[in-house]
Amino acid sequence: MKPALYWSHPACREHDPRVRSPGHPDTPERLVDLERALSQRDWLGWERRAAPAAAEEQLRLVHTERHVRFIADLCAAGGGAIDADTFVGEASYRAALHAAGGACAMTAALLAGEARAGFCAVRPSGHHAESDRAMGFCLLNNVAVAAAVALAQLGVRRVLVLDWDVHHGNGSAEIFAARDDVLFVSIHQSPLYPGTGPLHDVGVDAGEGYTINLPVPPGSDEALWMALLDRVVVPAAADFEPELVLVSAGFDAHALDPLADARLQTGSFARIAARVRDAARALGAPLGVVMEGGYNREVLAECVCATLPVLAGAAPEPAPAEAEPALDHPLVLEAVSALGRHWAL
Ligand SMILES: [Zn+2]
Repeated sequence: MKPALYWSHPACREHDPRVRSPGHPDTPERLVDLERALSQRDWLGWERRAAPAAAEEQLRLVHTERHVRFIADLCAAGGGAIDADTFVGEASYRAALHAAGGACAMTAALLAGEARAGFCAVRPSGHHAESDRAMGFCLLNNVAVAAAVALAQLGVRRVLVLDWDVHHGNGSAEIFAARDDVLFVSIHQSPLYPGTGPLHDVGVDAGEGYTINLPVPPGSDEALWMALLDRVVVPAAADFEPELVLVSAGFDAHALDPLADARLQTGSFARIAARVRDAARALGAPLGVVMEGGYNREVLAECVCATLPVLAGAAPEPAPAEAEPALDHPLVLEAVSALGRHWAL
């Protein structure tokens, strides 16, 4: 078994919202700078693979035909604005296909036992994309497509999707709201774009309880994030018994990110990754991590370089005293009390 697999594709550098919106924060340089940092470190020993384009049948497991056709046609016509934040050029559809396809290929490789952990350095991001709507820089929901493929085609019965991007993963939440075979868990800043994801939104119908939203206020730090992981996410995951763990990994909860006001440090991401890695291992579930946001390029590269070794098994830097989990924080107690009806917390 390989220690870890890294997926990306040159097409992911061709999507550039600045062709329609100069100054847009989602730049190809995010990926260019990250890969420069990784190559200077010999890719940290990870085996690199090319992300294939997703097949239309894979996309159709979570997206409407109309949605996929809309993106494809808009890009083929030269691109344009989808909403106030979301812009595409001619190359964007192809980039999105490789981003979703990378997540699917990574998932298949992990489930085939080729490696214990995987990372997809792809763009555009996916977690804001709903079944029938592109938004928030996202066109196709990469992680949702991969989760749906695992369930429909790869024999997996339950998938945990953990979204640690600072923004709520409204797209993944919408796609899986009524399903009980995906436990969607999001820690996100509130108030912040897109404005969804309150604690009391726990999914609907058969999916009631299978959505866990953990909003945190601006200024929240590692002590709170870690306490939510320890008191809610890890115990709920153990109760759910997923056979696959996928992470929507944004790095925009970093204190130096320009789009949000959380206060995680670079080492925080490595320590969060270690908790998730250990939980996945304890459950015997492979762990696939897909990049979402992170808009300070230098910080994004630094965070991914700190996180990958941990995903592959290394110990993270120890937490400073002020980052010890705030297990008695009122928000943690409120979440445990609200979600304890659904999960053994
Ligand atoms: Zn984000």
